[in-house]
Amino acid sequence: MFKVMQFFLDMDGRTEALRMIHKRLRDHFVGFPPRYVILDPVSQLVMSMLGGHTYSHVSKAAHADLVRNYRNWSDVRAAPVRDIEYIIRNVTYAEVKASRLVRALALISDESGHPSLDHLAAMSVEAAHDWLERLPGVGPKTAAAVLNTSYLQKRSLVIDTHHLRILERLQIVRPNTSIAQAYSQVMPLLPSDWSAHIMDVHHMLFKKLGQVICRVHIAHCEDCPLNQLCPYPDKSDEGKATLAMITSH
Ligand code: SF4
Repeated sequence: MFKVMQFFLDMDGRTEALRMIHKRLRDHFVGFPPRYVILDPVSQLVMSMLGGHTYSHVSKAAHADLVRNYRNWSDVRAAPVRDIEYIIRNVTYAEVKASRLVRALALISDESGHPSLDHLAAMSVEAAHDWLERLPGVGPKTAAAVLNTSYLQKRSLVIDTHHLRILERLQIVRPNTSIAQAYSQVMPLLPSDWSAHIMDVHHMLFKKLGQVICRVHIAHCEDCPLNQLCPYPDKSDEGKATLAMITSH
């Protein structure tokens, strides 16, 4: 069996491990992810800000309700926060998100009051992340989503809680790693020939695995396409050795 640990024995075989993991997930989830509409960066920012701790179908419905109720993001920026809160009331922490959303839209507006993030296109991924993460309610996950999945199409990996949990179980990152730490550690490991689109697919595949197989309270390892690669939950002494190797770095 070709365990992930074997990759760690060279300089840093985690890049090849990620490539193999990606292929296995693609082969398993045939046809996933389906095609979807690529949003402009401001729309993606709003979508991602609504999405925290909320089911995707709920945040998508809230986003659609905003689009239905206002002509554009300028009007959302100018609306009373309590009106926004009411429209997005089904998302988690609606009060906080409404306030942050209106403030963020104000901060990204030009002199005419038009919210735009198009200037990020000329920035490096690192600079664009720094810029976005200064906005209220924007962390590395939301910033990566704006940069990667909008039409900006930058090479930035979205890592959500599903993705992070699986990275930990695969021992690609240490236990109790934050999303920000995981982003910093995993980004340099991604194959240099992966496009922004492949990074997006990579994240979606991890998320899918986390939703249906490698779930938070139970990992259905017997059904998992990564079972032969994965040391969790210490399937053998090799798994323990891998963990010790990583955590000693
Ligand atoms: S083998 Fe088990 S723990 Fe490892 S990724 Fe698959 S479901 Fe998760």
